[in-house]
Amino acid sequence: MYLSDSNTDSAQSTTEIVGPFTEMVQQTSSFVWEILAANTPRDLHWRVILLTVTIAILIWLIRGGHGSKGVDGRERKAGLPEFLLPRAIYTHVSARVDVWLWVTERVLRPFWAVGLFAIVGPATEQTVIGSLQWIFGATPALQSNLAWMLLYSLVIVLCYDLVFYATHYTMHKVPALWAIHKIHHSAEVLTPLTRYREHFVAGPIWATGSALSFGFAGGIFAYLFDGGITAATLFNVGFFALLFGFNGSFRHYHVQFHYPPWLSKWLQSPAMHHVHHSYLQQHWDANFAAITSIWDRMFGTIYIPEKDEYTPWGIGPDTQDQYRSYWQNTVGPFRDWYRMITRGASPQAGAEVKQGEPGS
Ligand SMILES: [Zn+2]
Ligand SMILES: [Zn+2]
Repeated sequence: MYLSDSNTDSAQSTTEIVGPFTEMVQQTSSFVWEILAANTPRDLHWRVILLTVTIAILIWLIRGGHGSKGVDGRERKAGLPEFLLPRAIYTHVSARVDVWLWVTERVLRPFWAVGLFAIVGPATEQTVIGSLQWIFGATPALQSNLAWMLLYSLVIVLCYDLVFYATHYTMHKVPALWAIHKIHHSAEVLTPLTRYREHFVAGPIWATGSALSFGFAGGIFAYLFDGGITAATLFNVGFFALLFGFNGSFRHYHVQFHYPPWLSKWLQSPAMHHVHHSYLQQHWDANFAAITSIWDRMFGTIYIPEKDEYTPWGIGPDTQDQYRSYWQNTVGPFRDWYRMITRGASPQAGAEVKQGEPGS
């Protein structure tokens, strides 16, 4: 349903780029490409915004004006316009920098995106199919049904989320990568556009993760169904895109959307990401996943916040001054890398790595 003509063209050109394969591999290459094209995080969609605003209004009504946070990360009572679109947040320098970082990333994206998706996705998928054929023999050519389609949706979400978790965890723990990801965390206020606030060199890293995870899940199911589970794509796009689109936007919105505790143990509530953006030490290294809470629970990084928990956003008073303007955020990683190279693992370079402490 989200697939446009250009995506279909890309799918065909992908097949040409990867060269002469068996019919099955050709089918599954374009199948994986379609999944990638349909699920790659896209910019704010009006349906996602409408859903976000509707839920925010419901929270405002139910909580009698409470439930949103100000620039300082503290909950406060507000009238509806201020609750939905607080002036102090949307005129904040951080929100303006979000826009320019997003523009920069989008301008540079075409230089790497097509090549990366055309190579990493199909190569992963072919490797998985080839390995499965080598281990288990020819495809069992199963017939798809609703139960399989549901399982496929679940596997693709879990795969994506695990790779996202691993990528995100690494970005926090490896100083050279934290230098890049810090730009996402230097946001002092959260707006739905903060979701896309990343340094431009982070784009290929996240995209490689997406391509690997979709290629992996796609390869398994293409092998099992001889490519014949393509029909599940439509179902899957709706299921995944809604979950991903909605979660991604709302978790960077200043309104707190908590799930009941039992649900938070399975799915990341948007409020859980407010914690991820907090610079308080008790909130470091928590809630790394994008969709589910399963991996955070499994690896001991889950943090379910209290109602109205104080979450001051940003990288903290010590270094925030160095990461305020567009220019500071753009050159920041290069400056950090330069320091790391010239000073080695000096204490000063390490001090800037907020989450770099062992056992933190
Ligand atoms: Zn992070
Ligand atoms: Zn975030």
